[in-house]
Amino acid sequence: MIPITRPELPPLADYVHLLERIWSTRMLSNFGEFSQALEKIASDYLRTGARAVVSGDVGLVCAISCLELPAGTTCLVPSFTFNSTINAVLWNDLIPVFVDIDPETFCMDPDAAAAAAERCGPSLIVATHVFGNPCDADRLGALARRHDARLLFDAAHGYGSRRGDTPVGGLGDVEVFSLSGTKPVTCAEGGLVTSRDQRFLERFEYARAYGFQHDYNSRVQGMNGKMSELHAALGTLTLPTIDAVLEHRFGQIATYRRLLAGVEGIRFQNVRAEDRSTFKDLAIVFDDPAARDRCRDELAKQEIQTKLYFRPCHRMDAFFAFADEPLPATDEVYDRILCLPLYASLDDRTIESICSTVRAAAIAGVAAAPAR
Ligand SMILES: *Cc1c(COP(=O)(O)O)cnc(C)c1O
Repeated sequence: MIPITRPELPPLADYVHLLERIWSTRMLSNFGEFSQALEKIASDYLRTGARAVVSGDVGLVCAISCLELPAGTTCLVPSFTFNSTINAVLWNDLIPVFVDIDPETFCMDPDAAAAAAERCGPSLIVATHVFGNPCDADRLGALARRHDARLLFDAAHGYGSRRGDTPVGGLGDVEVFSLSGTKPVTCAEGGLVTSRDQRFLERFEYARAYGFQHDYNSRVQGMNGKMSELHAALGTLTLPTIDAVLEHRFGQIATYRRLLAGVEGIRFQNVRAEDRSTFKDLAIVFDDPAARDRCRDELAKQEIQTKLYFRPCHRMDAFFAFADEPLPATDEVYDRILCLPLYASLDDRTIESICSTVRAAAIAGVAAAPAR
């Protein structure tokens, strides 16, 4: 079985060494030396303030709570994202308003966002850097300022991504990363919340620790969002490897692109030349949905795992009630997308065999398509 992803782990002995230290200090949590070290590594790398949190999901809920937005106000969200994005908005008593994506980048379409903002006057805009592809932060930032709304990026896939020279993490008022096992760097379960706003960060520090710190006086409504020292220790080993991890991925992606170059009927996610994406997932989009389905079935027969990310949230049972306007680009991409295996130990021979299956399915799809 070829999985779609496989976490990168440091040499076990390196981690055991850190565990020995934890066993001797008995400091298991409460932001001890390893959480602090992790935050320092992330802050330096992202060039903004970073705080550790137990997961990306809780990071989103807790970060939005710290923005102190009036309950019942609206929040622009993509539908083409992981359901955490929408859950976090709902846990904060905000009303999600779905916005379509740009079909080339898969990120929130700033024009569609502007139209939705005119309609509903949001207090918050949440957009996802899909598969690590940085959103158009300039245009979304200008839109947020025009409506006096806050801008939060779901950067779950984006540790190591850059918009121009700016690391993802420094693009919105607040950004939230995930370090779970399917993301490009992991600490098993965990996340990071970033902001340049010291007041926000201070509030977040209380909120992620039940609402208080050492004096048992609740300052803000909080929750248990603490990252354990065992997780943080693993993160101090994996986060510094990000650039090497990405270099290796980019080499593999170049192989995919070379083998699929000139194949009609498929395209890749469009990342601007001046930006850097982590390619948390390597996605191709078929012109013909039936060709995508055949390709997926054929790869499954060869025991090669693929995924159809993201099942649009406006088509999920829990969020259906919020689906008002049509989202044609979201639907179109979802019906045609296929995410292919990508992880460090995936070898070129397997990439070649995946590509020949993709090529055959795409060619059959083009041949079957009615002439336009
Ligand atoms: C993985 C993911 C999350 C949730 O992060 P966890 O660390 O798994 O809780 C949120 N948003 C997106 C887009 C994700 O892919």
